[in-house]
Amino acid sequence: MRVLGIETSCDETGVAIVDTAPWEAGKPAGMGLLGQALYSQIAMHVDYGGVVPELASRDHIKRIIPLINQALNESKCSIESVDAIAYTQGPGLAGALLVGASVAKGMALALDKPVLGIHHLEGHLLSPLLADDANIKFPFVALLVSGGHTQLMHVEGVGQYTILGETLDDAAGEAFDKTAKLLGLSYPGGPAVSKLAMNGDSGAFQFPRPMKYSGDLDFSFAGLKTSVLTQVKKVSAAHQGSLPDTEKANIARGFVDAIVEVLVSKSITALKNTGINTLVVAGGVGANQQLRESLEKACAKEGFSVHYPPLHLCTDNGAMIAFAGAMRLMKNPQLAKKHWGFDVKPRWPLDQINV
Ligand code: ATP
Ligand code: MG
Ligand code: FE
Repeated sequence: MRVLGIETSCDETGVAIVDTAPWEAGKPAGMGLLGQALYSQIAMHVDYGGVVPELASRDHIKRIIPLINQALNESKCSIESVDAIAYTQGPGLAGALLVGASVAKGMALALDKPVLGIHHLEGHLLSPLLADDANIKFPFVALLVSGGHTQLMHVEGVGQYTILGETLDDAAGEAFDKTAKLLGLSYPGGPAVSKLAMNGDSGAFQFPRPMKYSGDLDFSFAGLKTSVLTQVKKVSAAHQGSLPDTEKANIARGFVDAIVEVLVSKSITALKNTGINTLVVAGGVGANQQLRESLEKACAKEGFSVHYPPLHLCTDNGAMIAFAGAMRLMKNPQLAKKHWGFDVKPRWPLDQINV
């Protein structure tokens, strides 16, 4: 079965085609990724310091058809050979989601193919299975750390997700982006903060580890950002209003150390509480090197294994949507329907999806 996936929930336009044949034959799922095309709008939003929803929608409209053609060319398959079309139904920006939904429905109607709406976080959640060497078996615990979400999830199988804990305020990626802004780095700041932190002195700044000992699996990162702001103001005041590069790197390091320590500590607790020994990390912050190293160390110590998506599939992409669509259809072929309503869900909790 071949599934074409479309992602337009935020500021990346992604298209990919997956074929289920390799993994039905017991080979790694990543071998079924026939081809993909991705366009990131980051450069367009940089001047505004964040994503401008209306600009995002308009740009998706401009990019989507050429990207579909590019993905089909790369996959060396015709649109007629695709069996179903999957698109991101939510959560995300309503206007941006509508672009992907309309194109998916229009194509499905014209080609007389079934179409299936996918939960964006389910895409992130299953993306580690696309790694070439993935040997991940259900059940697992997933740490989803993206720009809009921070959740620990108990994943029993495709469509069987229980939220164990989540952020009460900012998402981990959001905390990275806001800290980047405070340090004068451009949007999205996650990669820049983590690069800067590599040159910083661990321990030069001690930031709080929010909710580390809260006794549950929830998170809170808004206060951490406020602590960074306080330090930035203090250091700037001591240097005639400017922030020296070494201090900048030290603050970045202190921030990353704090956020990573909390994420690692809660992930280990989630594994212990559930009795599961496999951790899967997904979402943009999963690309963070410091987080990967610390998780690796902590999991090795406890005898747990930890898995990530390939680096290029950590942030938004079409492959994860095509793949989640294919996984769902393998489980229940009835899910793909011929229906043409534009039923996007900008807000949509992950534990409210049907299998
Ligand atoms: P959601 O999936 O919750 O709707 P999103 O799609 O915007 O949100 P992703 O694309 O998964 O989120 O990830 C983007 C986020 O990841 C941004 O906040 C970005 O700063 C962060 N990020 C990307 N690379 C890194 C990195 N190396 N270190 C830390 N953060 C990173
Ligand atoms: Mg993005
Ligand atoms: Fe995302």
